[in-house]
Amino acid sequence: MNNIPQRDVIQSYTWFDSVLTLKGVGESISEKLAKLDIVTLGDVLLHFPYRYQDRTRLVPIRDTLLENEALIQGSIISYQEVTNKRKQLIVTLEDGSGIIRLVFFHYYANMLKSFKLGALLRCFGEVKLFQKGKTMVHPEYQLVTEDSLVDSHLCPVYASVSGISQNWWRKIIRSLLAYRGDLFAQDPVWEKIIDERFGIDFLAALEKIHLPSPDCDKLLLLERKDNAYQRLIFEELLAHRTSLARVREINHQHCATPLLIEKEKIDALKAQLPFTLTAGQAQAFAEIQSDLAKDKPMLRLLQGDVGSGKTVIALLSASIAIENNKQVAIMAPTEVLAGQLFQQFQHYFVASEVKVVLLVGSLKEKQKKQICDEIKEHHAHIIVGTHALFQDRIHFADLGLVVIDEQHRFGVHQRLSLNQKGGQETAMTVPHQLIMTATPIPRTLCMSYYTHLDTSQILTLPQGRKSIQTVAVSNQKRDEIIARIERHCEQNEQVYWVCALVDESEHLEAQAANDTYLALKQRLPNLSIGLVHGKLKANEKEAIMNAFYAGEIHLLVATTVIEVGVNVPNATLMVIENAERFGLSQLHQLRGRVGRGAQQSYCVLLYQTPLSHFAKERLMTMRSTTDGFEIAEKDLQLRGPGEVLGTRQSGLQQLKVAHFARDFAQIPKVNQFLSEHPLGIASQQLLMERWFKRKTEYAKV
Ligand code: ADP
Ligand code: MG
Repeated sequence: MNNIPQRDVIQSYTWFDSVLTLKGVGESISEKLAKLDIVTLGDVLLHFPYRYQDRTRLVPIRDTLLENEALIQGSIISYQEVTNKRKQLIVTLEDGSGIIRLVFFHYYANMLKSFKLGALLRCFGEVKLFQKGKTMVHPEYQLVTEDSLVDSHLCPVYASVSGISQNWWRKIIRSLLAYRGDLFAQDPVWEKIIDERFGIDFLAALEKIHLPSPDCDKLLLLERKDNAYQRLIFEELLAHRTSLARVREINHQHCATPLLIEKEKIDALKAQLPFTLTAGQAQAFAEIQSDLAKDKPMLRLLQGDVGSGKTVIALLSASIAIENNKQVAIMAPTEVLAGQLFQQFQHYFVASEVKVVLLVGSLKEKQKKQICDEIKEHHAHIIVGTHALFQDRIHFADLGLVVIDEQHRFGVHQRLSLNQKGGQETAMTVPHQLIMTATPIPRTLCMSYYTHLDTSQILTLPQGRKSIQTVAVSNQKRDEIIARIERHCEQNEQVYWVCALVDESEHLEAQAANDTYLALKQRLPNLSIGLVHGKLKANEKEAIMNAFYAGEIHLLVATTVIEVGVNVPNATLMVIENAERFGLSQLHQLRGRVGRGAQQSYCVLLYQTPLSHFAKERLMTMRSTTDGFEIAEKDLQLRGPGEVLGTRQSGLQQLKVAHFARDFAQIPKVNQFLSEHPLGIASQQLLMERWFKRKTEYAKV
C-alpha cells in the first residue's frame, strides 16, 4: 500500500502506539482515522460498531424479510444484461424455497464470465420488493466453493470515513484482538475487582463487542447495556473520576502568585463597559476575584449559556492579571473561535499599552516565531490561540492566568493532570485557571461529579434578548416550511437548514446534506443557497461561511459542522431536519446559532413520524424552554431505555464509551468504588493512560 517500513503484526504493540505502526497504515490512512479522533491502537479498539450484520446463517429465500439484511445462497437460474435507462445486470437465484433477483448497476466483464447457469452463489444484502419480486441491489456476493464457511460471529459495522472500508476495520480489529501481548496491560488491583463485578475482563469485553457470538442479545449490546459495555463504561467513568481528583490534588500542591487589584481600579474597569453586569456576571466575577487574590491556583469553571456574557468576565479577569504585570493565555477550541476572541480582546485593550497577539496554526512559520519571541520577552501580554498551539515551544515570560474557552466541548481541563508523573510533583508556582463552558451542566451532575473544580454559573441572559420561538412540525408539512423560508428571505433575513444522520459516516451525512441542498435549490430558485459539511476543506468551508456572514448566501444547508463558533446575527430562522434524532443538548446548541441579533428568531424542528415517547418529550422540551440548564436537566431524565442517540452528540461527553447523561446512575457507584478501593498511584496511572493517554497534548500549558 505504501513504502513506509512498518512493524509486522508479530512485533510488540502497546495500547498507545500510533496507528502508523500497523502494517498497511501510512500517512493517508492515519489522516483519515484522525478525522474520527483515532490516533492510537487503543483508539482503534475503542471504536465500537454501531450495528451488526448477521452473516452467521443462511436464510432460505422464502423466509427472508423485506427491508432486512440476510445471507442467502442459491443457484443461478438466469442472468441477463438489460438496458432500461441504465445498463444493468440481472441475475436470478433459486434455493429450493424461492427465487430472488439480484441487480447490479456496476459490473465487470469477468463477473459475467463467472456467473454460469447452475453456479452456486452466496449473497449478503438487504431484501427489497421490486416489480413484485424479492430483490437485492448490489449484494456482496461470492461463488460458493467447498470451503465457503459462514461467519462464526456477528459482523460489526463501524462508523467510518471515505477511503476506509468496513473490511479494513474488521481485519485490523480482529488482528489486534488476536494479538494480545502488551496491548492489554492489566492492573493487579482494581482490574480484578471490576472483572468480578461485571463477570468479564477488559479484553473479553472488547472481544464481545467487536465479535459477538451469533446468539448474543444484539439489542442489549447496541444499547450498551450488555455487561461488556457496562464494564467499560464503569471503568471509563472511574478513569475520569480519578483524573479529576488528581487535578485537584496536584493543584492543591502548587502555589500561585496572588493577583490583587484595588477596588477603585476594578470599579473603573466595570464603569468602562457599555452595560452593567448582570447579577450572575457580578457574582461570578466576585468569586473569580477572590480566587485570584489567593496564593493557591484558582481552578474555576464558569458556566453560562451562549450569550450569557462570559467573555466580559474573561476580559475583566485578564485585566486583573495585566494590572499585576502578568501574561494571560486564552485558549479556544478552534481557529475561528480563537479569531473571534482575539478581536474582542484587542478591541477591549485597544486604548492601552497591552499587546494582544493571536497564535494559530495557519500563521506562517516566520510569524509564529516572531510571536513566540514576543511571548518569551514579555512584549506580548495577552496570547489568544487554539488549545493545540499551547502545547509546543511556547515559553511564557510570566504567565499569571490561563483562560480556557471550551465552548461546547467540556473536558480539556481534566487532562491537565496527565503530564504530571505520579508522586514526583514538587510545589511549583502555576498560573490561575479559568475554564469557560457554554455547555450547561445540570446542577445534580455538577455536584456529584465536578467536585474537583469550583464552579460559577451565569444563569440568566442579559436583558432585552428575545427568546427564540420554537415549533415542531411533521415532515409532511415540509412544503409549508419551504414556503416560509422564501418569505423569510424576502425580508432580508437568513436561514439555516440543518440536516444530519446520526451515527452514520461523514460521507453519508455529506451526501444527505447534498441531496437536501439540491432539492431546496430546485424548489427555491430565487434564493442563493450554500452548502457546508464536514467533507469540505477548511478553506472551502470558510469561504462559504464568510459568504453567509456577508449576506451573499440566503439559505445555508449544513450538517452539524455549524454547531460551534458560528455567529451570524442576521440568521433568524433555523430548520432542523430529523430533529427527533438529536439529543437535547445538541438541539439546544444548534438552536443557539439563531437569536443572536435584535430581530425575533425562530426554530423549526422538522420531524419524521412515528415519534418515540422520548423523542416526543425532547421536542416538547425544546418548544417550551430556551434555558440551557433546564434543558440539560431534562436531558438527564430523558435518557430512557432504548434510546441510543448518536455518538457524535456534543455536550458533556468527551468520553469514549460512557455518556454522562445516559450513564448518570453509574456515577455514585463509581464514587463508592473509589472510597472502598482507594487506588495507588500506579493504578491511577494505568487507568488514566488506558483511557486518556494521548490527550496529554493539552497538558503543557
Ligand atoms: P458568551 O461568551 O457567554 O456566549 P458573550 O460574552 O460573547 O457571551 O456576550 C454576548 C453578548 O452580550 C455580547 O455582545 C456582549 O457584549 C453582550 N453582553 C454581555 N454582558 C452583557 C450585559 N451585562 N448586558 C448587556 N449586554 C451584555
Ligand atoms: Mg463566548
